[in-house]
Amino acid sequence: MLLAQRQAHLDNLEALRAAAAQLLDDSPLVDSVGDDGFGEADGSGSELDRIRTLVAAARKGIDDVDAALGRLDSGRYGICADCRAPISPARLEAIPEATHCVDCKTGGLRRRK
Ligand SMILES: [Zn+2]
Repeated sequence: MLLAQRQAHLDNLEALRAAAAQLLDDSPLVDSVGDDGFGEADGSGSELDRIRTLVAAARKGIDDVDAALGRLDSGRYGICADCRAPISPARLEAIPEATHCVDCKTGGLRRRK
């Protein structure tokens, strides 16, 4: 499951890289607009920024999954990094790379013994 998620992030990253490369190749050469209605290129720079942001997010996603895989190897996967309680299976199913239990993540309801 984690591996599938990592692959999804990688695919996403590849697609974003391709889009960014295409944008860099095309944007200076756009001379005829109007045929396809995509003439509102008022911000190829901001579009690039948007893609950069998405690439950064995809990279972070891969880092998160890699970290989770590392924890899996060392036997700490599914253990809250803060209170060391087991993270609920339902939560791990929703967020495989989760590092904290729901209580710690939400910051409230922490019980100290
Ligand atoms: Zn916790």
